[in-house]
Amino acid sequence: MNQNKEIYDCVIVGGGCAGLSAALLLGRGRRRVLVCDKGNPRNAWAHESHSFFTRDGISPHELLSIGRDQLKPYKSVEFQAIGVKEIKPSGNQFGEELAKLSLSTN
Ligand SMILES: Cc1cc2nc3c(=O)[nH]c(=O)nc-3n(C[C@H](O)[C@H](O)[C@H](O)COP(=O)(O)OP(=O)(O)OC[C@H]3O[C@@H](n4cnc5c(N)ncnc54)[C@H](O)[C@@H]3O)c2cc1C
Repeated sequence: MNQNKEIYDCVIVGGGCAGLSAALLLGRGRRRVLVCDKGNPRNAWAHESHSFFTRDGISPHELLSIGRDQLKPYKSVEFQAIGVKEIKPSGNQFGEELAKLSLSTN
């Protein structure tokens, strides 16, 4: 990823259940999406996840792994194991509002 030049329709900060769900929806709508995820979901220490339709009792790790796999057919969606430190407005280009991200690898 060239951090200075890539332009996305949407950047999702966090690739947990919520972020991956949003990425799937946007990918199906052919939006160019970057998912940035630091990889520490709040339920990381739970052995089972319950009450999710068709997946009752699944390990949270496996649930996210399936979620990431199901994004792979959507080529406009990119997943990066990376943290977002800061988001700043960076003016506009061709009338569109842009934002610039500061990224970290931890
Ligand atoms: C002990 C425990 C048990 C639970 N059991 C259940 C259950 O059985 N069933 C259920 O439905 N729910 C359960 N939950 C709630 C469950 O955690 C949520 O349903 C689910 O994890 C929420 O998903 P999320 O995507 O909102 O957040 P998270 O899963 O927390 O994911 C957020 C992601 O964003 C990343 N992130 C955050 N900030 C940044 C940043 N600046 N840059 C990059 N990445 C970032 C994090 O690293 C993380 O990977 C449980 C929660 C806990 C704590």
